[in-house]
Amino acid sequence: MSRPVLVLGGGPAGLSAAHALTAAGERVVLVDKADRLGGAPILSGYAKLVPSGEWARDAIGGMVRRVEDDTLIEIHRNARVSEFAGAPGAFLARLSDGTAIEAANAILCTGFTHFDSVNKPEWGFGTYPDVVTTTQVEQMLSSGSGIRCLSDGRAPERVAILLCVGSRDRQIGREWCSKICCTVSCNIAMEIREQLPQCNVYIYYMDIRTYGLYEDTYYWESQEKWKVKYIKARIAEVTSDGKRLIVKGEDTLVKRPITIPFDMVVHAIGMDPNVDNLGIAATFGVALEKHGHIKKAPSYTAMGGTTRPGVFTAGAATGPETIDDSIAQGQAAAAAALALARAPARRAAE
Ligand SMILES: Cc1cc2nc3c(=O)[nH]c(=O)nc-3n(C[C@H](O)[C@H](O)[C@H](O)COP(=O)(O)OP(=O)(O)OC[C@H]3O[C@@H](n4cnc5c(N)ncnc54)[C@H](O)[C@@H]3O)c2cc1C
Ligand code: SF4
Repeated sequence: MSRPVLVLGGGPAGLSAAHALTAAGERVVLVDKADRLGGAPILSGYAKLVPSGEWARDAIGGMVRRVEDDTLIEIHRNARVSEFAGAPGAFLARLSDGTAIEAANAILCTGFTHFDSVNKPEWGFGTYPDVVTTTQVEQMLSSGSGIRCLSDGRAPERVAILLCVGSRDRQIGREWCSKICCTVSCNIAMEIREQLPQCNVYIYYMDIRTYGLYEDTYYWESQEKWKVKYIKARIAEVTSDGKRLIVKGEDTLVKRPITIPFDMVVHAIGMDPNVDNLGIAATFGVALEKHGHIKKAPSYTAMGGTTRPGVFTAGAATGPETIDDSIAQGQAAAAAALALARAPARRAAE
């Protein structure tokens, strides 16, 4: 392949795709709109990742360093693609700073946007400072500041984690399950209990989706070893009595109203489609699926593909994904991009 592959987005999926391509001897141009590579785990300051237990700054930081040290990868930070034209093997992209890039093909790894909890106002975010998101708790853990109430800096004695905030909620147009927030929440609950053994942690849930092997190591361990309490409930509202936050709802197992006071309420926020997706779809000439994620070609026959030949995709750009799956999809998209680019040479040799 004489031209490089354009990889848009340097999160886990894009870092994985870029590395897979250079491992096969190809050149890559990696473009990210942020000033740092690493995607959500780095940009949002995640703490210890599930399921590896490694700090995000070490695990994803290692992926970033591998790409930054790779002489076959040209990196453009603080950059977007404003034009993209041509055909497989001979695309021409223009970046926001005017740079022109010739590319054999492109892989869209532009990820997701965190759900903004102000879109769920009845659950208190934006009204009460001690209603926070899982991302904020991750930042408390990764910065070493400790778990503290933002209102006055005290260590909370009672924490509620509300699952499915901005996911599985048809009223606000978010029908999807964000896949990883149950497991992340179990992990955060255990981290809080380890850091603050006197603190009681409750998880409010509709269903628990610690799928696969996570059931044992997160769901059961959080209850049996760390005494995290689970309440199957529908939340009505989060208010305050002036001293504490009050979570009101219905316990759906016993079908009774419940009102419980807490010091801190954590929203387990979901993964929205990237807010840039309409623009990305228009620039690259690819379709979006009905919720606004990048539409995938059929996995059975065209893994990593989009609706446009020569444009591939991977990771949370296509819907909620875990890091492990985003990395695997990055490699799959790289393989598909290589296969397409090398097909003429292969046919000529046959
Ligand atoms: C609170 C929370 C905790 C999580 N913890 C875990 C965990 O412990 N384990 C786990 O497996 N998963 C976890 N996840 C999920 C994890 O964040 C995703 O699986 C992962 O980030 C997806 O990687 P990605 O590369 O596809 O996308 P992203 O990480 O979103 O990266 C996308 C990249 O593309 C760039 N980009 C976006 N738009 C453009 C554009 N228009 N032009 C140029 N660049 C662009 C961004 O700047 C970013 O660098 C968590 C999610 C949340 C919400
Ligand atoms: S993973 Fe759990 S918290 Fe996240 S949307 Fe799915 S069911 Fe809700």
